Amino acid sequence: MEHIVIIGNGIAGITCARHIRKNADAKITVVSAESEYFFSRTALMYVYMGHMKWDHLKPYEDWFWEKNRIELKKALVDNINFEEKTLHFSSNEKMNYDKLVLATGSVYNKFGWKGQELKGVQGLVSKQDLELLEENTRDCNKAVIIGGGLIGVELAEMLKTRNIDVTFLIREKAFWHNVLPLQDAKLISDQIRSHGVDLRHETEIDKITGDQKKGVTAVFTNSGEEIKCQLVGLCTGVRPNIDFLKNSRLETDKGILVDEFLQTNIKEVYAIGDCAQLKQPASNRKPIEAVWYTGRMMGETLAQTLTGNTIKYKPGNWFNSAKFFDIEYQTYGQVSAKPGQNEKQFHWQHKDKTKAITIAFEPTSKKFLGINTFGIRMRHPIFNRWLNEEQKIDHVLANLKQANFDPEFYTSYEKEIFKSFKENLQNP
Ligand SMILES: Cc1cc2nc3c(=O)[nH]c(=O)nc-3n(C[C@H](O)[C@H](O)[C@H](O)COP(=O)(O)OP(=O)(O)OC[C@H]3O[C@@H](n4cnc5c(N)ncnc54)[C@H](O)[C@@H]3O)c2cc1C
Repeated sequence: MEHIVIIGNGIAGITCARHIRKNADAKITVVSAESEYFFSRTALMYVYMGHMKWDHLKPYEDWFWEKNRIELKKALVDNINFEEKTLHFSSNEKMNYDKLVLATGSVYNKFGWKGQELKGVQGLVSKQDLELLEENTRDCNKAVIIGGGLIGVELAEMLKTRNIDVTFLIREKAFWHNVLPLQDAKLISDQIRSHGVDLRHETEIDKITGDQKKGVTAVFTNSGEEIKCQLVGLCTGVRPNIDFLKNSRLETDKGILVDEFLQTNIKEVYAIGDCAQLKQPASNRKPIEAVWYTGRMMGETLAQTLTGNTIKYKPGNWFNSAKFFDIEYQTYGQVSAKPGQNEKQFHWQHKDKTKAITIAFEPTSKKFLGINTFGIRMRHPIFNRWLNEEQKIDHVLANLKQANFDPEFYTSYEKEIFKSFKENLQNP
């Protein structure tokens, strides 16, 4: 029987394994050094905040794997002999495969700052990082978070629930302004500050100080300010976890290079999820998309190919969601942080600063390009359809009610949104 081995038990690897099992009788082994069972990485924060227990993060009961004949192996792969089709584990064991799926996820960035290896300096990606955070925050009353991405804001929320004072340093002039348009970014900056976080815009780290025994004691900013602290959160993004694959004949760049079939340069070796880098991404899409939905979609697609129905990876319309303290965020299609000439944006914001919408469209054709929503839940299939149908902005606005989970919201604000749109964009 054919042996398919998957390295990585995250959303990409596990989705792939489940869908292979639906279609084929192959022997499937999933290897991971991090945890015995698949867990929801996006919910890690809730364990720290006490809203969930570790076991609640497991989407499947433990019996699921045996019942579905998916073998789980907790082990670290040190290296791979692609000629012999053999994995070498740190325990000196070996495992042979017929087909190999690399779904090794991400690690957090370290940019060579002085002091980055001190005790109390860490990122948040893995189960082990969460355990370390518990240890590092046992006697901590002050933390500095560096980097304004999705993980940074989650870490700020987590630490605040333990009454730890947080200073949050970000390079941009508003939170996540490398992804969000300025008005949206400012809304989130206000939200973060309203929770008592000392958010500093346009501020970068110069160095981290401390000593080997005590660990970190302070962060110095690029303006020379010293901020005393016992924890430094490194949240300046993630990168593909591929260091152990570097000196092999596997083609890599930032990630593992794959074609449209998610195939690497080596026959019968594939890569999916955060670690995969598409050689030719679809227009307006990035070659590496380190998000949950992309991992799931790649896993589903590859399972088809591995079970005889060879198909290309088609990412569809961009979609993502996150939470910034109390504000839920969803995005569909393209809403650029800094729109060019071919994109116009309309922004509406409720005066309580917890609800907002930014809609992007092409100024000449009026084609709807995408939407960001804050504090308002939208229906994914409806935006997906409007994007596929290339609907006009007027159609989207006129039918926004259909896309909303909370009809009362539109009863109250629909007129205001329309009026604001007309004033902002239609009257020169
Ligand atoms: C705190 C946090 C919050 C997030 N929130 C969101 C969110 O709100 N929305 C969103 O879309 N995305 C979010 N993400 C990103 C999302 O979780 C990832 O994109 C997704 O989990 C990646 O899945 P994956 O299957 O590619 O890899 P992973 O889930 O990282 O799994 C890879 C696995 O492979 C294992 N592995 C790697 N190398 C080896 C080796 N050599 N030997 C053995 N095992 C190995 C790793 O230990 C790991 O267990 C968040 C991420 C984090 C960390």
